[in-house]
Amino acid sequence: MSMLSDESYKKYKEISEKQGIKYKSNSELRDTADNLVGFFEILMEMDQEEQSYKRRLKSEPKGFSMRGNGRNCSLCNKSISEEGFYDKWGFKCMNCQDAINKKKIPGSLCGDYEHKKYMTDSVLSYKTGIHIQTIRKLIRQGKIKARKIPNGPYIITHKDNSNIQTIIHQEKRKEHLNKPKT
Ligand SMILES: [Zn+2]
Repeated sequence: MSMLSDESYKKYKEISEKQGIKYKSNSELRDTADNLVGFFEILMEMDQEEQSYKRRLKSEPKGFSMRGNGRNCSLCNKSISEEGFYDKWGFKCMNCQDAINKKKIPGSLCGDYEHKKYMTDSVLSYKTGIHIQTIRKLIRQGKIKARKIPNGPYIITHKDNSNIQTIIHQEKRKEHLNKPKT
C-alpha cells in the first residue's frame, strides 16, 4: 500500500534527482520515500510530545513523573522503560533525578547528547579505547576529575578536566609500551 499520492512520489523523484540521487526502480523510490515519511512522523510525534510536556510544566513547574517507555535519560543516557521524571532539564531516570535533587550533579548538564559539556566514564572509554577500569583508576588517582552519580556512572566534565588530552595520551603510550611485542 502506498503512503503517498502519485503526485508526491513524482515530486520526491524530482527533488532527489536535483540532489543527484537516482533510484534503480519505482519501487525503490517509493520505499525510500515511505521510510522518510515514517521517520518524520516519528520525529513529529516526539516533538509534539515534548511540546505537551513543556506546556504541562507551566502548571507543574517542579516537574512530574512519567513512564520512560524507552526514552533515554538526559543525564546517564540509559534507556528507561519504568518510571522517570520530567522537569525543566528534560526527562531523567529516577536515579539521576535524585542526584540532581541532592545537588550532586548540576541539572544544567542534562541534554548534552553531543558530549559538549561532559562524558560518562563509559563514553570516555568508548571514545578513547581505554579500558573503563583504567579510566576509573585514573579517577581514583585524581588524574581525571569526576563526580559520581550514586548507583550510576561517573560524570567527567570538560571544564574540570582541561588537561584530559594529555592524560589520555600518556595512558595510551603506557598501554602501548606495556604491550608485548609480537
Ligand atoms: Zn539517568
